[in-house]
Amino acid sequence: MIGNMLPANLKVYRLAWRLYFGRASPLTRLSCAGRLFRGRFLSARAPISTMIGLTYRCQCRCVHCGMELKRAAGQELTLAEVKGVIGQARRLGAVEITLFGGEPLLRKDIVEIVAAARDLRMLPSIDTNGLLLTKDLVARLAEAGLGAVKVSLDSSRPEVHDRLRGSPGCFEKAIAGIRRCREAALPCVISTYATKENLENGELGRLIARGRELGVDAVRVLDTTLSGCFLSSPALLLDRAARSRLAGLIEPGFVFLENLASAKKLTHPVCSAVSRRYLYVSPVGDVQPCCFVPLAFGNVREKPLREILSGMWGSEIMDYGAGDCLMNNPRFREKYHARIAAAAALPLREGGKQ
Ligand code: SF4
Ligand code: SF4
Repeated sequence: MIGNMLPANLKVYRLAWRLYFGRASPLTRLSCAGRLFRGRFLSARAPISTMIGLTYRCQCRCVHCGMELKRAAGQELTLAEVKGVIGQARRLGAVEITLFGGEPLLRKDIVEIVAAARDLRMLPSIDTNGLLLTKDLVARLAEAGLGAVKVSLDSSRPEVHDRLRGSPGCFEKAIAGIRRCREAALPCVISTYATKENLENGELGRLIARGRELGVDAVRVLDTTLSGCFLSSPALLLDRAARSRLAGLIEPGFVFLENLASAKKLTHPVCSAVSRRYLYVSPVGDVQPCCFVPLAFGNVREKPLREILSGMWGSEIMDYGAGDCLMNNPRFREKYHARIAAAAALPLREGGKQ
């Protein structure tokens, strides 16, 4: 009851605490606070968050997926290499490590990776389709120090979710996985995306209501990004009417758009890539501004992360205007769309100079 009366900002901070710091030890909290302070006040450029793609493999075939398309061949980063990336990210000032895919739970060493992140006093979370969230794995991930799980749900209707994911039975397994996270007291977020259609027909609102019934901590709504399967479909971008409906669904502290930094924004997310607060390392070690931006500025197998980041954050792509999604930015599309669309393999190297 008192929670409902809190000001919006406090609700957002309370959620951020639960998702990031709630399961961290006092020493980890202190260490992260030190890095956040240094990044905010002493260093002009420090990433808060690093996303690591652990594999391109996945059991689903989602209509909206961009990860499977034209990906560069190569060996997945080994456990030792992933640990090395996490250590380098920490030295740069990062506190959050998001483990991503493909489907990250397909990695046999996922528990060791989570434990390594925690040992390095980082705040690890996982983005998953939920298919492998068995009772045993959830318990082992919680024991290893995982901070939160984000489970993708595309619809409140099982048949629609399964069709969009290309995976029969996917909905029920994801829901069971969410329940197991709740039973293990592991903070759990439903991750979904807004479309003109699910805003107009009320489906997104029904999914949020389902999340509340399930007792999840939050619902993250992703904006439409013109990448992957949607690269050449600008008609899918949310229009003014859709954005107004979306604004009506955002609830500070429970429903947020894209990331918590956007929590006060009701209609447009803050682009963490252009804000120089986030970076992505692909399953084969390519460093990109974001998992949806298929431009690589170096590979962690060839150069230190600090050096690659300096080139990436000093490049002209950071000048496309903070606030807009880079992939949806008209100037960025004018320059890169044709090259990305025509490329035989992605990401393009060195900011698209190939
Ligand atoms: S679950 Fe994720 S990685 Fe797998 S196909 Fe769907 S969007 Fe792509
Ligand atoms: S480019 Fe920016 S807004 Fe777009 S998906 Fe990536 S981080 Fe989000």
